[in-house]
Amino acid sequence: MSESLAVLIDHAATKEDAATIGQSIIDALVSEGCILPTPSSSCVLTGEGYSPGPRLNEIYSFGDTELRYWDMLTNCGVKIHTERYVNFWAFPVFEAAVCPGCNVDQSKDDSFFDGLYECVAAFINDGVVPDIHCPVCDQRYSCRQWKCIPDVGIAYLAIEFWNWPPFSSSGWNMSLPEMITTQTSRTLATSWGRM
Ligand SMILES: [Zn+2]
Repeated sequence: MSESLAVLIDHAATKEDAATIGQSIIDALVSEGCILPTPSSSCVLTGEGYSPGPRLNEIYSFGDTELRYWDMLTNCGVKIHTERYVNFWAFPVFEAAVCPGCNVDQSKDDSFFDGLYECVAAFINDGVVPDIHCPVCDQRYSCRQWKCIPDVGIAYLAIEFWNWPPFSSSGWNMSLPEMITTQTSRTLATSWGRM
């Protein structure tokens, strides 16, 4: 089966404070029993991640036909990224890219993707964030200003939840993004993707 992921992205975190903020978010998830406190390599495909915690089956109510993610899947860890982050997994399920000036979706226009791929490469390689030209309003906007669905990141802090249900799922009895905001005062964007 293909792997999917839910993602939380902190667009306001900087290169300098991403690691500290990231640890505070991990601490919040541990304190609520959403993840185990010690990372391991057995729950993610590469590197290390945090295994699902003891309270998840209480915080989330499964539908009748829904997979019991955390009990049935091996690759279901939580992986934190505190360096230049792009959600590459958004591209296979890309839905829209709305210009911040004219509000027109440009995702059907190949030239938009040429611009976006250039931005991704410039950010990953050099830490810079170029503009993308909009052919409709003939303006240029930072690629961080475009509303991409799903959110592609281009940020310094993100948390990937591999094979977790989407944060928009009605099964959640507690909003994880809201819990994190309450505990850490950070506002996170939600995103998703597929491998
Ligand atoms: Zn435009």
